[in-house]
Amino acid sequence: MGDQATAETDRNFMLRLRSREQKLLKKIEDAIERIDNGLFGICDDCGLEIDIRRLEARPVTTLCIECKIQQEDEERLREP
Ligand SMILES: [Zn+2]
Repeated sequence: MGDQATAETDRNFMLRLRSREQKLLKKIEDAIERIDNGLFGICDDCGLEIDIRRLEARPVTTLCIECKIQQEDEERLREP
């Protein structure tokens, strides 16, 4: 029984990891596409250049820090 539970936990863990990595992979592919289109480093929302330090820390980001903060604020407001 113990082994079975462990195997199930491992499986769930692997599935979560897989799903997370897949999302990251998609973001990286999107980032490469933006590089090809010359849109890399441009905020999706306001169209301004994203701070280079932010891009260095999170190359897959599509929002400048101001828009990101705004988005997070809106998400927080939507939660009950
Ligand atoms: Zn922005």
